[in-house]
Amino acid sequence: MVHKPRKRFGQNFLVDDQVINQIVSTIAPKSNDIIVEIGPGKGALTFPLAEYLDHLYVIEIDRDLISILSSKNSHKITIYNSDALTFDFDQFSSKIRVVGNLPYNISSPLLFHLLNFRSNIVDMTFMLQKEVVERIVASPGSKSYGRISVIIQAFFDTELMFTVPKESFDPQPKIESAILYLKTKKDPLVQNSKPLENIVKLAFSHRRKTLKNCLKLALNQSQTQIDLSQRAEMLSLENFVTLMNDYEKQNRN
Ligand code: SAM
Repeated sequence: MVHKPRKRFGQNFLVDDQVINQIVSTIAPKSNDIIVEIGPGKGALTFPLAEYLDHLYVIEIDRDLISILSSKNSHKITIYNSDALTFDFDQFSSKIRVVGNLPYNISSPLLFHLLNFRSNIVDMTFMLQKEVVERIVASPGSKSYGRISVIIQAFFDTELMFTVPKESFDPQPKIESAILYLKTKKDPLVQNSKPLENIVKLAFSHRRKTLKNCLKLALNQSQTQIDLSQRAEMLSLENFVTLMNDYEKQNRN
């Protein structure tokens, strides 16, 4: 069956066995793990992974790929023809491990969607644009540090595992990729992500402006210990939590 790659579904298929083996080693699947793969495509990762597992769950949006997958499918793979952006990741009987060579065009909204299910997620191993992975693992003070770094690092330990060249895909993407490993934190500094998301969004609303300017209507210097003459990119995760608590206090009063 011939399948024409669809740009709108971010279809760049892995064709490099060495990279596929490296990803499988990074995931280190154990037979009874509940692994959910997002975007199995034609099964480049799916089938090598399934060899190690009692069962594997995959979510694929493209019906044409589903028929290719099903024709090769063994009984141990459950295929959901669904959109991962609206998929209910809480439906499994125990904690899951999420993996995938993600469609790049939806990687950020997908990570934010998965954040809602973090209490049911052990870890996640994803292929993403290298630049996005660098932003997620970035430290305060670096150019790449921003909203997504703070929010993801609040709930996951993050690591850039290795980079993947364009030549490992067909069709080749324009940019380099990287493997990101996210391990859910047992004791995050905050329980609820929404208030943190709100303050971080405000703080980074104008990258070149100081916090004082960005938070103008939300918080003034007398209401927080955090020095508002800095830019948001200088603040650590702990600083953002303090800022969030001070902001919440003001809204409560
Ligand atoms: N895993 C395959 C591989 O490595 O060769 C395919 C990876 S390709 C980068 C991304 C896959 O995600 C495609 O199969 C695409 O159809 C699928 N996809 C795109 N958007 C999706 C969505 N919203 N929900 C589920 N799958 C999606």
